[in-house]
Amino acid sequence: MYRFPINEAVKHIGEKIKVSGWVNIKRSHGKIIFIDLRDRSGILQCVFIPSNKESYDKAQNLRTEWVVELVGQIIKRPDKMINPNIETGQVELSVEELTILSEAQTLPFAIETDGKEINEEVRMKYRYVDLKRERLKNNLIMRHKVSKFVRDFLSAEEFIEIETPTLTKSTPEGSRDFVVPSRLHPGKFYALPQSPQQYKQLLMCSGIEKYFQIARCLRDEDPRGDRQTEHTQIDIEMSFIEKEDFMELYERMLIKLVEILFSHKKIQKIPFPRITYKEAMEKYNSDKPDIRKDKNDPNLLAFCWIVDFPFFEKDEEGKWTFTHNPFSAPKTEFAEDLLEKNNIEKILTTQYDIVLNGWEIGGGSMRNHTPEALEAVFLVMGYTKEEIKEKFGHMIEAFSFGVPPHGGIGSGLDRIVALLLGEPNIREVIAFPKTGDGRDLMMRAPDEISPKQLKELHIKVDSAKSVKTEKFNSDSPNSVKSKKTKK
Ligand code: ASP
Repeated sequence: MYRFPINEAVKHIGEKIKVSGWVNIKRSHGKIIFIDLRDRSGILQCVFIPSNKESYDKAQNLRTEWVVELVGQIIKRPDKMINPNIETGQVELSVEELTILSEAQTLPFAIETDGKEINEEVRMKYRYVDLKRERLKNNLIMRHKVSKFVRDFLSAEEFIEIETPTLTKSTPEGSRDFVVPSRLHPGKFYALPQSPQQYKQLLMCSGIEKYFQIARCLRDEDPRGDRQTEHTQIDIEMSFIEKEDFMELYERMLIKLVEILFSHKKIQKIPFPRITYKEAMEKYNSDKPDIRKDKNDPNLLAFCWIVDFPFFEKDEEGKWTFTHNPFSAPKTEFAEDLLEKNNIEKILTTQYDIVLNGWEIGGGSMRNHTPEALEAVFLVMGYTKEEIKEKFGHMIEAFSFGVPPHGGIGSGLDRIVALLLGEPNIREVIAFPKTGDGRDLMMRAPDEISPKQLKELHIKVDSAKSVKTEKFNSDSPNSVKSKKTKK
């Protein structure tokens, strides 16, 4: 028998149908037992009457969150009993057969609230329970819709989605790499990608012209605010374009996204204002200014572009380093200075950042596609020619086999979705997020590995230094109640 999604029940008055799901609430009125059955699509009231003895007797044992399959007739409720708050409020299921598919213990916390009142570490430990919550379920559905919109929009513009490797070589993107030891090549390590930057540029060398990927980026960051060790990026690269062409395309995509999926939101200004880094710092003292005219309006979206960033800045040791991306091209008027390594502090990059309500939601640039200029960037940063060859030889060589001018963007999907949904942090729109210090409380990762695995990987752990991360061993949610939730 076909299983109907609950929200379709209304269309089947008078018919015998099968539904299944979780017992949301059970209550008795006199001799009659009612349950609210919940599946992904909604809630349906189901009624057990004593004359239907077999199912009625079984129903007496039902408890919240048990998983059941029900067969019965959909009947129209009397007018007085209509519940206008649920989609199926006009009908109910008069149960004829009940099959119990699984029983359930009492949940560690309530799921009918928005959950924000519950200690977040407990929510993360029982994330699969937390995700039963309507708010989080909807967040995942909306995230899916945003990804699908991006895929459809870019596909219609002739972009193709290409997967790039997860096991790769260290890329200098300003963060620390996660590394993976190689069993087959003792003493050697892969790095997990901080972004697909080099691969997407190499795809431009191959003639792909328009690439995108909803890509996972992994960065071993120190615990900081709303950062996650892995985040998802809408990663795009395109050949034979200028900065303006690309910014226009990306802006158009964001406007359409809001129009189609978040039509109750209002974009403050179209086209998005362009603000130079200098102006932003002078006027807002921030390179991600919140330019909303009314900060109390939750539906106002103030996008802006920040441009004309300095290419280089001094690091803690007084050495030059890039501010955004070493693969960016300088603005044309500074091309000579870069090659000559003159006026380094004055060189501006083609970098553009996109900011929404004070959050940076992406950044990109036109790339440095001549081998000499790319080499010059690394020379300014103090690399020797040998080091450049060792680390970036493949890029410089690729650029010697015919490379089109190209540029693109990497934009944070998690942040975009969180902002559009009005969620306070990106963990609320990630199915299985980690804590600020990179722990997965549900899977208990990171974790030790067996001596056998270590041996195979040719690794010896300096046990004296083994990290003293606080282990989350408790099975009882109450034991962590006193701990402060990380914000
Ligand atoms: N790879 C850059 C980043 O992850 C984005 C880009 O320039 O495309 O920030």
